[in-house]
Formats: sequence, structure tokens, C-alpha cells
Amino acid sequence: MKLLNPGPVTLTESVRSALAGADLCHREPEYSALQRRLADGIRRVYPAAQDRFEAVLLTGSGTAAVEAMVGSLVPTTGKALVLANGVYGERIADMLAMQGKHREVMSHSWDAGIDFDQLSVKLGQDDTISHVICVHHETTSGRLNDLARTGRICKQHGKALLVDAVSSFGAEAIDFEAWGIEAVAATANKCLHGAPGVSFVLASRTALQRPSASRSVYLDLRRHHEAQQAGSVAFTPAVHVCLALEAALREFFEQGGVEARHRRYAGHMRRLYDGLGARGCFPLIDPVGDRSVVLSAFRLPEGLTYERLHVHLKAEGFVIYAGQGRFGERFFRVSLMGDLAGGDVDRLLQAFDSILSLQA
Ligand SMILES: *Cc1c(COP(=O)(O)O)cnc(C)c1O
Repeated sequence: MKLLNPGPVTLTESVRSALAGADLCHREPEYSALQRRLADGIRRVYPAAQDRFEAVLLTGSGTAAVEAMVGSLVPTTGKALVLANGVYGERIADMLAMQGKHREVMSHSWDAGIDFDQLSVKLGQDDTISHVICVHHETTSGRLNDLARTGRICKQHGKALLVDAVSSFGAEAIDFEAWGIEAVAATANKCLHGAPGVSFVLASRTALQRPSASRSVYLDLRRHHEAQQAGSVAFTPAVHVCLALEAALREFFEQGGVEARHRRYAGHMRRLYDGLGARGCFPLIDPVGDRSVVLSAFRLPEGLTYERLHVHLKAEGFVIYAGQGRFGERFFRVSLMGDLAGGDVDRLLQAFDSILSLQA
């Protein structure tokens, strides 16, 4: 079965077998060394982040990392401006509300890009805003939000930028310096091709030295960071998932890092766009430059429901993903993360042919 949902992904054999690796006590030096290797590996994914940033590992899915990042780094005396154009941006706004943080949301429709004019005006008017929070790849639609431009505007106004990069980390470019990033949150089991259960925040050292603003014990980034700096760990980690992440990072670097993974996804995505386009099936996000290479939402062909398409493709060995929330009726999503080859994309297209001809 090939998983074409946006995580968990289809694992390679080497990552899968790492899950059955040694039982390690997390209070022993072996685990401490593993944790250090993982943190170093994560920092090396984007070499420019190496000098100023620390990777803090968490046990929990990507949401845990996002929640720890915004909960710990947005000060209780500050205010966050959330740029939302999909489910994940809206979720960040919910997190801040639950944490009792001051926040404002710039809401966009799910098929729209960020309104930069409005962003500039807002940041110019409101000096109580300390942080801008944005989703890099909005997995709801497949849109790659323009972080270069967002970052430039934030820098002009002296605002710190926090990024949910859960579905882009490892496959899309992230310029830590030019975009003025304070922290990004991401996970093992999306573009890095690890197993689900471990996530991380890559945060600037300066941000980690501020008093924590966390109202949670488990998701207090500073508590995790201090323990990890001391070679320890705050709570029981998902040890086997960490072993799998190490194997995934090894493959990631052997295969050529971010640029290589980007090229591989882009090649598969081009095949998918060409193939589905020839079958009358088009992506939600129009300008190619606004799309990620990781995932795309496509309009369902006339007369075909998601349920029928899903059942048919699953019988052919592929799990696709429904459109999120109100997009469920009109769109389906295909993610290209994980152990997937060009031939798999071709087989997927053939599987489409059989259901489209059943339709006709
Ligand atoms: C998948 C995803 C998340 C949440 O990750 P979980 O692992 O499901 O908790 C957050 N943000 C984005 C952009 C995602 O794609």
C-alpha cells in the first residue's frame, strides 16, 4: 500500500527496521548520544540555521511542536498576529485562544494567498504585536505561502516570525536569516520520512533564553531545551521512533538533502499534474509558483464522489486523502511524501483511468 496522505508516510525498509532497534533507557548515555545526533541532524537540514538555532525534540505529533512553539515563545505580555488561510492557520489561532494569549487573526479564504497590503498596514498600526505566525505549506490546499515576502514585511516592522513548517520542512526552501525567523515547528513523519510520534522545534538561541511563556508543563519548550542541553530529557521519549528518525535523516542526507528531496517531489508532482490534467482533473491552486511540491488538492471530476474514488484507489494500492472540512465535497488531496517512485505515480494514473472509464 502506498500512502498518499500527508503523513504518516510510507516508510522505507531501513526506517521500518530501525523501529525494531535496541531497547534504550532514556536515562542512559546511549539515549543521550542519540538525542544529540538527532538534534545536530535536524539543524543540518538547513545549514544556515546551524549557528543561531537549537533543535528541541518532543514526543508528540506535529501539532505538539506547533503548540509548544507558540505557547512558549509568544509572551503573555505580547500579542500574536496569525495569518490563516487554511485549517492549520486556524488551529494556531485556536491554540493561542486556549492558552489565553492575546492574538489577532488575519483570516483569508482557504484558496487565497496572504494579503500583504493588509499585513503591512496592520503591523504599521499595532505596536502591541510581538509575533507574526504563519503556516509555510498550508496542507489544506497545497499552497506554499510566500514566507520571503511575509518575512520581509515582519523584519521592516521589527516583528518576530514563527512558522508552522510541519509539511514543508525538508522539502521546501526555508531561509532562516533573510526571512527573520525566530522558530519553526516540524515533525519526523512528513517530508523527513520518519515514523510518527516525534516532532521538534528549531528555535533561535535568543528566543530559547527568554523566560518561557508556556502555560503547559508537557509542552514547555524551555523545560525540554534545558533538559536536552544537559544531555538529559524531560519526559519519556518515543525511543524507537527516535531510532527511526535517525535512519530517516541518514537516508535524507545520503540522497542529497533538501534540494534533492525538492527535486524528487517536483518531478513526481509534474507527472501527476500532467497525468491528471490530461484526464480533466485540475489543482485548486492556480499559479504554479504558489503551489508546494509536497501535496496538491485537486477538483473531483464531475459526477465522481470522493468516497468512490477513495475506495477504488485503495483497492489498487493507494490511499489518497479527502479535502479538509468544507472542501470535502469538491476536492481530494494527493501527497507525494514518503517512499514513492516515479513508477508509483504512473500506476496511480493508470488506477485513475480505470475509474474514469467506469464513469464514462
Ligand atoms: C500535518 C500538519 C500539522 C499537524 O501535524 P500532526 O502530526 O497531525 O499533529 C500541522 N501543520 C501542518 C501544516 C500540517 O501539514
